[in-house]
Amino acid sequence: MASDEIVNQFLQYLKSIEGQFDLSDVDLTPLIEQTKFYTPIPLKYSNPQIALRNMSCVIIQNLCKYTDNAKYPKYGLNAIKSVTTKNLDDPDSQAQLMLLVHITKMKLSIYESALYCKHFERMSIITEYTDQLNKWQDVAYKVLAHSEINTTINDLMKRTFGTEYSERIEETDSIKVSIKFVVTTEAELRGFAGINCVYINEGYFNLKASQLHHNPNPALSADEIEDILLMDIVTVTLHEYSHVRIRQVLDDLNMSSPHFIAETAIAEDAEDPEFGRIVERKFFNVTINWVKSIGCGAVPVTYITNFLNAINTNAALPVLTDNVYIVKRSRPQTMHGGGGGADLSYVHDGIIE
Ligand SMILES: [Zn+2]
Repeated sequence: MASDEIVNQFLQYLKSIEGQFDLSDVDLTPLIEQTKFYTPIPLKYSNPQIALRNMSCVIIQNLCKYTDNAKYPKYGLNAIKSVTTKNLDDPDSQAQLMLLVHITKMKLSIYESALYCKHFERMSIITEYTDQLNKWQDVAYKVLAHSEINTTINDLMKRTFGTEYSERIEETDSIKVSIKFVVTTEAELRGFAGINCVYINEGYFNLKASQLHHNPNPALSADEIEDILLMDIVTVTLHEYSHVRIRQVLDDLNMSSPHFIAETAIAEDAEDPEFGRIVERKFFNVTINWVKSIGCGAVPVTYITNFLNAINTNAALPVLTDNVYIVKRSRPQTMHGGGGGADLSYVHDGIIE
């Protein structure tokens, strides 16, 4: 089987560079030469067991295809080796594999990429829930069940990817999607799309919560701060759920959006074809930074209170009035080919965006 062969070639390549220091950038050329004749393998949602078995191979193929100048830090390769040779029955390993499928496609420097791989090697799924996490999970599930959100995402998929997908969109509409929270030392990760699962990084939101509580905006009450965090959980859920929905429709975790972007897409979306961001723009005009937009008064706190109420009661969502003072998030980072699947935020001067 081609996927096992590629993993074996990767392991043999690692043996051949055993003598090199972990911090050195190693030359991937021999591995690239060996693997370049294999065709990309789709990771089918309709057969998750086979998809999981093929993920290691796809990660190595992505690494070979997208690494700049065929160089990569050896410690990053060690992390990739660890993730790609783990027990496939372990839910933590499954989540790590899905995340690395996305990370190895992103437009990152080799040092950022290797460091992320190293940190995500130890990412795990949270199984014990605090009261706060239960609240976050409840609101995330309400997003998945919200009628207007589902209709809007379905309509956007038709507009963006083409009406030829209408039937698949209907067929896949009732597939159950779950929410899982993960813990990792990498606070920049907001979330990512798995197979019929939205993963959210608790660490990102914990850091955000602690920054909001330690540097309070005097204009905001504790309840309002809680609502801002909930609104951001709603936003990341919307975003990752969109990635999951389009992957259900195309039946491939490893898809890249732009390849499928139809001519019907509006100019702005053709320019920035990351589907999670297209969906965010539909609801909030931009990929919004809630903390800054509310902090500077560009968005009234009542808007998020009303939005959260509408999420909780499956009612019509309030429309956000656009204005020039609304602050965007500067990331997520895009992928080679422009698609999405994992969303990394940005830290400026120690403050998470
Ligand atoms: Zn995204």
